[in-house]
Amino acid sequence: TVRVRIAPSPTGNLHIGTARTAVFNWLFARHQGGQFILRVEDTDQERSRPEFTQNILEGLSWLGLNWDEGPFFQSKRLDLYREAIQTLLDKGLAYRAYDTAAELDAMREQQKAKNQAPRYDNRHRDLSTEQQAAYEAAGRQAVIRFKIDDTRVIRWIDLVRGAMTWQGSDLGGDMVIARAASSHSIGQPLYNLAVVVDDIDMKITHVIRGEDHIANTAKQILLYEALAATVPDFAHTPLILNQAGAKLSKRDGVTSISDFKQMGFTAAAIANYMTLLGWSPPDAQERFTLAEAAEKFSFDRVNKAGAKFDWDKLDWLNSQYLHEMPSAELLQQIAPYWQEAGYSFDLQADQDWLAAIAALIGPSLTRLSDAVDLGHFYFSETLPFSEAAQTQLQQAGVAPLLQAVLAALRQTSLPSAEEAKTLINQVTKAQGAKKGLVMRSLRAALMADMQGPDLVDSWLILHQRGFDQPRLQAAI
Ligand code: GLU
Repeated sequence: TVRVRIAPSPTGNLHIGTARTAVFNWLFARHQGGQFILRVEDTDQERSRPEFTQNILEGLSWLGLNWDEGPFFQSKRLDLYREAIQTLLDKGLAYRAYDTAAELDAMREQQKAKNQAPRYDNRHRDLSTEQQAAYEAAGRQAVIRFKIDDTRVIRWIDLVRGAMTWQGSDLGGDMVIARAASSHSIGQPLYNLAVVVDDIDMKITHVIRGEDHIANTAKQILLYEALAATVPDFAHTPLILNQAGAKLSKRDGVTSISDFKQMGFTAAAIANYMTLLGWSPPDAQERFTLAEAAEKFSFDRVNKAGAKFDWDKLDWLNSQYLHEMPSAELLQQIAPYWQEAGYSFDLQADQDWLAAIAALIGPSLTRLSDAVDLGHFYFSETLPFSEAAQTQLQQAGVAPLLQAVLAALRQTSLPSAEEAKTLINQVTKAQGAKKGLVMRSLRAALMADMQGPDLVDSWLILHQRGFDQPRLQAAI
């Protein structure tokens, strides 16, 4: 059966690129009825942090990318990597090298002077035991290097990019697979080795990851062979680009999933949008759930070219999801933004009243965070009048109109829009006023602004709180 994995490094919050790679792995696993495995690559002790791990796990769960196994942590599996390195040493496929940083720098300087690409020249490949002992006696630390045959040609059929060829001589010389080693210890295993050992151990059948890993794939294929393991299939997904066509980076502002969440995008819209970043369904449908996409997913519809990140499209998708959301669910999603804005309410006790606000402003939302501006009308007894509202209220004849509304309001209750409209009509008639003037004046008084959500619906919401009379009074 198909087994795939997402292998994030917890050196930052869940990045949009990692999340998109996770989406493609998940879609493929679900399409194939296979397993999706989560592995946290936390071997870099200086840069890995538990709060990043937490952010990554929460982000994947939020998006609905449930995993079948894991999370596994590489930091707990170091013995497995050391065993594999010992095997390579025993087979003569790896060796200890004792070059100092200064020596390596000098070597690269020389290569630069000769216009050669930087590479390790394999100078410590055949050190004698005496030379090794002498370096150790001089206090030098070793790295462990895996031998790379310069004459090798490495080939694989990439599920996205087709036939791939890589020259052994382009891999930078014998590669470091562990550092801080000595004659009697293996030290700290490094990324390429740990990934291969884990992918073998976890019986990964397809390695699906970003195209920035293509050179690693060439190296890793050599490690699979050296460890006498079956080489999995590889699929390298296109990069996510900014509007200028460069790789999306921190400089483009938002890059982590928690940032997108904070900005008011729903998980469904983000998951949907990430699926479209490099893939399209055969029927050109643009809106779908992950489960729907999984039914149709295949690598032959994944693009080779980079995928441009399009904010307008994401906003459009997000608004579609928000406009269709039942108001009770919308309220659950909006409430944290209102809470953060300092609006006072009780989510339990005020549920119906709050859901009415959610239903009223829902069609105007692009992002959940828009609910802060669109909702502010309803949460305090009085509001400062905008300039436009003040101008409206100072017009001749407006105060008596509002007095009449206030008087009528004291005689009735307003359980429905019908009754509010009847009240408006009666006052209009009795005062011999123009309906437009009454409406504009009411809006200025009740909403303290000339723009905003529907007036009558808003009035009912304000009325339920008893805010309409104080606001009318304040306007007169
Ligand atoms: N830890 C690597 C990364 O975050 C994983 C790459 C891979 O999938 O092999 O880029």
